[in-house]
Amino acid sequence: MPVVLGAIADDFTGATDLANTLVREGMRTVQLIGVASGDAPADADAVVVALKSRTIPAPAAVDQSLAALAFLRQAGARQILFKYCSTFDSTDRGNIGPVADALLAALDAEFTIFCPAFPENGRTIYHGYLFVGDVLLSESSMQDHPLTPMRDANLVRVLGRQTPHKVGLVPLAAVLRGPDAVRADFMRLSRGGYRHAVVDAVRDVDLRTIGAAAADLRLVTGGSGIALGLPENFRRAGLIERAQRADLLPSVRGDAAVISGSCSAATLAQAAAMRAVHPTFDVNPLALAAGEPIVAHALEWAESRLGGTPVLITASAPPDQVRAVQERLGRERAGSLIEAALAAIARGLVGLGVRRLVVAGGETAGAVVQALGITGLRIGSQIDPGVPWTVSLGEPTIALALKSGNFGREDFFVRAFTCLD
Ligand code: ADP
Repeated sequence: MPVVLGAIADDFTGATDLANTLVREGMRTVQLIGVASGDAPADADAVVVALKSRTIPAPAAVDQSLAALAFLRQAGARQILFKYCSTFDSTDRGNIGPVADALLAALDAEFTIFCPAFPENGRTIYHGYLFVGDVLLSESSMQDHPLTPMRDANLVRVLGRQTPHKVGLVPLAAVLRGPDAVRADFMRLSRGGYRHAVVDAVRDVDLRTIGAAAADLRLVTGGSGIALGLPENFRRAGLIERAQRADLLPSVRGDAAVISGSCSAATLAQAAAMRAVHPTFDVNPLALAAGEPIVAHALEWAESRLGGTPVLITASAPPDQVRAVQERLGRERAGSLIEAALAAIARGLVGLGVRRLVVAGGETAGAVVQALGITGLRIGSQIDPGVPWTVSLGEPTIALALKSGNFGREDFFVRAFTCLD
């Protein structure tokens, strides 16, 4: 069966989060990295194109999103989902409004919805106001975000500043009455000349109601929560298998390693737990900066240890050590130096036969995926909430678990590989 749902995500980890949700809701899903080209992936009900368009200039975000759209339509997608952050990260210049307007125009569609609610993570919308936990978005830490400070919690107003079109609201009262009432509100707004509607949602069941009501919309926009209700529409229409295991991955044999470049509290605990039972190599940032051949040392060290149990190669360090390194090297230089070294080590490990790789750290994972030349990932079952095993498209086939900072329980590194067998 061809691809039925095409998604465009404005950042990498958001794309994985969405893909993970779609798999859990029964859709076989592939995540592509960057503007896609070539043939549509085989055996996928949904394709998520991961862009890095959240904070780039709006015209560039529009261009990339339209290129992704063209690919997805060619792959067969009947519905397009534009995925952004559940805190609606944007400025008055965009990019959510301009991208949505451009996608609507390209799809020749007249109406779409905006619903970043993600109740599981405390993001709820009521009367159009976005809450983060129990405070308004504008009172949350997002008010001080370095790139997209969110100082207004009213999404109707926020979006209204990003688009020339009228922005309406579907209130919770309609959502509580069910899909028919929500659909009636879509019609009412559309007839009234509204092109956009923010939709209230405070619970997962509300997102399922909204998903059912959105079955006929060419374009849907929201956070990953909005994906909860969409797969059932395709199942009901007979466009995807009803009882399929969407999370099955091809089996991948080969040596196993963990590469850790995250210094978050969760990762430090996970690295300590792995160090207690598995061979561990520490990447020393100052030695790296001094020009010592750390990458070669790490690979030499790994070569004699691979084949048995998984190995850990880590730069992760507690805050005082990170601060000391940053004071010596500068924050940016330290970060990029370590990312580049870990990425080169990952490439070397694959050369040595590693085919099962866990990478900790969002930026670190981005660097590793790029160094390995990976263009797409098939998404499998999750190890811990939000972190699925994936398998790369193309050759060689590598099983990858990409874990950003604070995700995963303490035994994540040790347990991850047992989930693959
Ligand atoms: P997270 O998902 O936890 O934010 P990232 O990989 O996105 O992890 O970011 C961590 C950053 O810290 C990377 O740029 C990495 O290179 C850098 N880093 C890793 N180890 C150290 C260290 N010991 N000292 C300084 N910076 C480090």
